[in-house]
Amino acid sequence: MASKAFDMIVIGAGPGGYVAAIRGAQLGLNVAIVEREHMGGICLNWGCIPTKALLRSSEVFHLMHRAKEFGLKADGIGYDLDAVVKRSRGVAKQLNGGVGHLLKKHKVTAIMGEASVPAEGKVSVKTEKGTEELTSKHIVLATGARARELPGLEADGDLVWTYKHALVPPRMPKKLLVIGSGAIGIEFASFYNTLGADTTVVEVMDRVLPVEDAEISAFAKKAFVKQGMTIMEKAMVKQLDRGKGKVTAHIEVGGKVEKHDFDTVISAVGIVGNVEGLGLEDLGVKIDRSHVVTDEYCRAGVDGLYAIGDIAGAPWLAHKASHEGVMVAELIAGGHPHPVKPEAIAGCTYCHPQVASVGMTEAKAKDAGYKIKVGRFPFIGNGKAIALGEPEGLVKTIFDAKTGELLGAHMIGAEVTELIQGYVVGRQLETTEEDLMNTVFPHPTLSEMMHESVLEAYGRAIHI
Ligand SMILES: Cc1cc2nc3c(=O)[nH]c(=O)nc-3n(C[C@H](O)[C@H](O)[C@H](O)COP(=O)(O)OP(=O)(O)OC[C@H]3O[C@@H](n4cnc5c(N)ncnc54)[C@H](O)[C@@H]3O)c2cc1C
Repeated sequence: MASKAFDMIVIGAGPGGYVAAIRGAQLGLNVAIVEREHMGGICLNWGCIPTKALLRSSEVFHLMHRAKEFGLKADGIGYDLDAVVKRSRGVAKQLNGGVGHLLKKHKVTAIMGEASVPAEGKVSVKTEKGTEELTSKHIVLATGARARELPGLEADGDLVWTYKHALVPPRMPKKLLVIGSGAIGIEFASFYNTLGADTTVVEVMDRVLPVEDAEISAFAKKAFVKQGMTIMEKAMVKQLDRGKGKVTAHIEVGGKVEKHDFDTVISAVGIVGNVEGLGLEDLGVKIDRSHVVTDEYCRAGVDGLYAIGDIAGAPWLAHKASHEGVMVAELIAGGHPHPVKPEAIAGCTYCHPQVASVGMTEAKAKDAGYKIKVGRFPFIGNGKAIALGEPEGLVKTIFDAKTGELLGAHMIGAEVTELIQGYVVGRQLETTEEDLMNTVFPHPTLSEMMHESVLEAYGRAIHI
């Protein structure tokens, strides 16, 4: 069969791949995208979106328990786990269909099958009907990542789950162990704990949410413990003994090994890039710890080959993948896009309370040699937060004392995942403390705390 030629071929239709394909098509390129499983990738089907749908259910459940505080009555509060999961799957399905529609609208050729790159400029796709050969000068790898499995702690879908099992649980855990307190682990811990599971989180580092500012981690831990979670830091799960309906976890903490029983374990110990089976070794592509090594323009060291999103390494976030997709499509179409700067990418965790941050932590800014000014503003000082019944939280800002550059912003509390973008825009526009202080924030909003935090860094906060 003759091979089909395209201007650009994208492998993987997650938020990196499908966005790259659409942007390429917008720029007049003849684009093909190959996907082996589901349009929208992990993000839409097994990641960002279905988790947020689950967390919304647990948030509403939590609020229903607080009905009396708001002068409301809610009796017989309960949940139907199957219905909660059904809603989450429905949301994912709706968006998955939307991606297919968008690709069609932009006249992108979508091929369902498993792709590999047998040689420079060539893509081979195994489809249900046989093998299709495609050619293009530009091939974009956007094959994403999957859950990392540690020896002895592998998921079995029954007692030990990965995020995929945790999104479609066979039962409601009664006694749950979550291994790993990164965004994925903490979001599931938050969801199941809110619905009533007796939840323990084990983190090998010295604090939960270890990539966040230490003050935010400490705040988060306090909130989680108040909600009934057990948090074990500087602790490592060494072994899981699987019995009938029971797992005994051997947890090393403080130099001793403790044994604890659980009925369910969620392993959230990171992810590994989907680099296998693509033919990358034969092409001479460099792989570092399961990720393709790229330059700042996502070029993978072989003529016309690019890698974007999770397969290209941290931060493993959908918006990073999409932005790299746009950048690469523009590059291929002959444009001169700016490279994606990892430090400009905000991270959000949708646990309760939410956590969001961008830029350097206080420790990193100090390590980098900056003389800094730090502003803090607590939710308790904000009218809207009190009116919402959400008085717990903190907005922390870090400035370069010399230039006034906003080096980092760190937030914990209600809706901070929506607020953080204000600081991201500010940093993109290279704003200084002066611009932020002179900006008028609407009242009453949670965003006023972003203003106050900046004012506080310069000794000018009004409401504390
Ligand atoms: C539980 C969970 C929650 C998350 N929550 C968030 C969040 O709130 N916010 C956020 O920003 N990020 C979140 N993430 C991370 C986010 O999902 C990823 O960063 C994002 O999906 C990466 O996009 P991608 O396009 O690089 O890869 P993916 O979304 O993984 O897509 C890759 C696609 O490539 C396909 N593929 C792989 N190999 C081949 C092949 N050989 N041939 C054809 N197709 C192939 C796969 O089937 C897949 O569809 C979460 C992840 C998880 C697991």
